[in-house]
Amino acid sequence: RLYLSGPLVAGMVDLPPAAVRHARALRLRAGDALVLFDGSGGEWEARLVNPPPAARVEILRHLPVERELSPAVTLAVGMPANERMDWLVEKATELGAAAVQPLMTSRTVLRLEGERAVRRAAHWQAIAQAACEQCGRNRIPAVHAAAGLEAWLASLPPQAGTVARCVLSAPGQGQALSFAAWVGAAAGWSALTVLSGPEGGLSPEETSLAVRAGFVPVSLGPRVLRAETAPLALLGAWAALSTG
Ligand code: SAM
Repeated sequence: RLYLSGPLVAGMVDLPPAAVRHARALRLRAGDALVLFDGSGGEWEARLVNPPPAARVEILRHLPVERELSPAVTLAVGMPANERMDWLVEKATELGAAAVQPLMTSRTVLRLEGERAVRRAAHWQAIAQAACEQCGRNRIPAVHAAAGLEAWLASLPPQAGTVARCVLSAPGQGQALSFAAWVGAAAGWSALTVLSGPEGGLSPEETSLAVRAGFVPVSLGPRVLRAETAPLALLGAWAALSTG
């Protein structure tokens, strides 16, 4: 499976350098079958006509295949430091997140502003793309540039009835996740946004701000999960219950 920037149409196309590198790493040979996607939905059956370095493929037919999670889940996460955020983006993509919003909170170690924030978002976006090639998703989740928690909360639209919001406030605090209650409630949701804290947690003031913006405190049990584990645990639980 290879991502190519689209729009893809049936016919011959030369692979761009990044896809050529990928095709070479996969040791593809002339005649090998490929699946291509451009992120706009569905995928294309294709075959390699010329092997790398002058890699050329014939795009054969479009298959309207979707492997998205429904309702769409956005993870808004107090950024864990170092490669843990890379790992979070990769796993969130595999588990079906529709978007990831990295956040700076009062206890976030990593601070990203201006050009650095844009460059890091592009790095995470590339990780999401590679994860889609691997896991079969045909829509690449948007990984936004890092934002401050308060500004991000202020930018959210007023909460509509079918848009659910929850905050992973702290171990043991908030409504326990009951699968039965979730399955019932989720039937009426159109989207879910999950807010979780960084290594040092959200401050009580930040949790209150989130609650005022419509986020329901949810507990994932008495154990302290790492900043990258908690949002993924919730996403995994949702993915396991979802039919999508
Ligand atoms: N010392 C911090 C505290 O007690 O809040 C620990 C923060 S924890 C490493 C990072 C984040 O993961 C928390 O801010 C929260 O969003 C989430 N989290 C971790 N364990 C959780 C649990 N059992 N229930 C709900 N959220 C949890």
